[in-house]
Formats: sequence, structure tokens, C-alpha cells
Amino acid sequence: MAYIINDDCVMCGSCAGACPSEAISEGDGKYVINPDLCVDCGTCADTCPSGAILPGE
Ligand code: SF4
Repeated sequence: MAYIINDDCVMCGSCAGACPSEAISEGDGKYVINPDLCVDCGTCADTCPSGAILPGE
């Protein structure tokens, strides 16, 4: 399952730059992860300063 960005996102953009799959883009009020591109590496979650990225269920 793809990782998911919750409402704690502060739009810093660090995750988008870190994702090796270019699966993260700027959405409406927060960044969003394209589940079709995410390879579940967890790099974005480690990068997020807000702890807003969690593994999907
Ligand atoms: Fe990109 Fe990896 Fe985060 Fe998926 S888990 S969105 S592939 S950085």
C-alpha cells in the first residue's frame, strides 16, 4: 500500500524532492502521493518535518 500524507502537512515540499518515484505533488492545501507511482520505500516519511506521512493500511 502507498504512503499517505495527512492534514499535518505544512506544504514544505521536502517529501516531493526526496521521493525516488516522483510520486508526490502539490495538492490543495497539502501534498499528495500518487498511489500508482509509490513504491513504499518510506523515504518521504523520514524526510517530513511534521510527521505527516504514514504508511497506508
Ligand atoms: Fe515516494 Fe517512497 Fe514516499 Fe512512496 S514511500 S511516496 S515512493 S518517497
